[in-house]
Amino acid sequence: MTENLRIVASKLRRALAELPYLPKAVALVWHAARGWTTAWAILLVAKGLLPVATVYLTRPLVNSLVAAIRSGGAWDQVRPALVLVALMAGVLALTDVLRSVTVWIRTAQAELVQDHISGVIHQKSVAADLAFYDSPDFYDHLHRARSDAPYRSVALVETLGSLLQNGITLAAMLTVLIPFGLWMPVALLGSTLPACYVVFSHALRQYHWRRRTTAEERRTWYYDWVLTTRETAAEVRLFRLGGHFQSLYQSLRRRLRDERVALARSQSLAEIAAGAAALLLAGLALGWMIWRTVHGRGTLGDLALFYQAFNQGLGLMRSLLESVGQLYANVLFLGNLFEFLALQPQVVDSPSPVAAPAAVKQGIRFSGVTFRYPGSDRPALEDFSLTVPAGQIVALVGPNGAGKSTLIKLLCRFYDPDSGRIELDGIDLRGLPIADLRRLITILFQEPVHYNATAAENIALGDLAASPGRAEIEAAARDAGADEPIARLPQGYNNLLGRSFSSGAELSVGEWQRLALARAFLRRAPILILDEPTSAMDPWAEADWLARFRRLSAGRTALIITHRFTTAMHADTIHVLQQGRIIESGRHQDLMALGGHYAQWWSTQMKLV
Ligand code: ATP
Repeated sequence: MTENLRIVASKLRRALAELPYLPKAVALVWHAARGWTTAWAILLVAKGLLPVATVYLTRPLVNSLVAAIRSGGAWDQVRPALVLVALMAGVLALTDVLRSVTVWIRTAQAELVQDHISGVIHQKSVAADLAFYDSPDFYDHLHRARSDAPYRSVALVETLGSLLQNGITLAAMLTVLIPFGLWMPVALLGSTLPACYVVFSHALRQYHWRRRTTAEERRTWYYDWVLTTRETAAEVRLFRLGGHFQSLYQSLRRRLRDERVALARSQSLAEIAAGAAALLLAGLALGWMIWRTVHGRGTLGDLALFYQAFNQGLGLMRSLLESVGQLYANVLFLGNLFEFLALQPQVVDSPSPVAAPAAVKQGIRFSGVTFRYPGSDRPALEDFSLTVPAGQIVALVGPNGAGKSTLIKLLCRFYDPDSGRIELDGIDLRGLPIADLRRLITILFQEPVHYNATAAENIALGDLAASPGRAEIEAAARDAGADEPIARLPQGYNNLLGRSFSSGAELSVGEWQRLALARAFLRRAPILILDEPTSAMDPWAEADWLARFRRLSAGRTALIITHRFTTAMHADTIHVLQQGRIIESGRHQDLMALGGHYAQWWSTQMKLV
């Protein structure tokens, strides 16, 4: 027995520990839709009081009807009964009107709350460190916040509403019952205690189950994505992977489904037991009241009033409890959102930042930089030093995984190094405001984004702040060699790209790359970084583009990462990277004369060409 009590107490403690999220959740709703929430609260109070008016009208109505019948239909007895009937009809009509108005107000409120929450999640995701996207834990948080929070917040509003409304009605009903004996309201409340326990403990169990299974649920979403998305469609067909991924999806879903159904089953059984206790009590109370009326200690009107009040009270307690349970569950799940929002970025502005230079005068210097990706034992860069002098073109070559792209990520402060310094004109990057630093850099990423927007917009996204005009967009497209593929589109620069929306045109990988290059060129930043700019170009296009590149990068500091030696050879300095270290540096001729890795890889590549 004491053991059981201890379990109940610990469950209650755990349940209460989650409640601090309630005020936060309410504040979120209030912040999102003040006006609608006020209107909705007023309506709920009105709707809460109307059933009490019905109950109060019942006694005089029944008694006046009995009197009218006894008087044989005398007008002075019938008239008060008719007035009461009219009043009762008025209350019922008003209840109906309010119900419909509530649907409208609640829809507006719910839409606003959903959009507000999505906005908060988007803001947080965009501001999160890139490192967060390397962590499965972050995805779990994001998944729970995204999948639960919007609909849970709407459900929270609904349950808060029914809680308020039913609470008002119940309080009034309990007041109605007090004249029949103080024990009546106490019995009514007591009868729901077992159900109360069931509701809370199951909300908690379901919440913990959901937390435990988030990663598995995300995996089912992943399988679903593989089976339904365009990116995978060709491979799934060629390698006949459909059945494989379907069976992975189904077997995982089966397990999750079985666990979920088992939870629901045990909740139903517990609720049936709790409901039986409440029913027994209701029967006893009604029996007592009938006995009282039969013995002439109450009128028929009293019996009708009591029956309505007690019966409605029981129903209200049940739905109140349900609301409390749902409210609790919703608050628990909204806790996921608040946990997600509480994640703090590690790469932040220094408390006393130094103003970033408007142009690069000396250059970029990496000194003794060591960096491991979060959760990785192996350093991607180790004791790494490199100088990129201002105004020069520097190329980085090296095998896959040598650490070339990592360098760029550190330079943009997507991550901070574990040790060592990265300086721009002698200023440690950590001392510069992050936004200012990033404004100094423009990049062609190795896997650029294919925005489903027009060709012109795809380029303009490189510098929205400068509101580029058509002439600048077209100049950037020409510099990148993107003007030709754009000219072939039926609507040229105004043609929608990508296949997600109707009338969108699809480009080849190389054409997308040129568009991304144009995006990078559009931004007149002093530091130009190109990660594999020619990887998808054919040799003719490459030769043509390289001939123009020096002019395009004039006055800028350029860093080119490439596997193509024909591209690297145009740089002022070439650094050869291997396993996070520079093993050779110099101009093309110097490196060839050295006869080391570069010369060896060059001749291998030339033989292949
Ligand atoms: P490639 O020529 O293939 O593009 P790279 O030289 O650009 O290669 P990086 O992308 O810098 O190589 O990767 C360097 C090392 O860091 C690799 O061993 C890779 O496995 C590891 N790495 C890269 N990104 C991550 C990440 N997000 N989390 C953990 N390790 C990573």
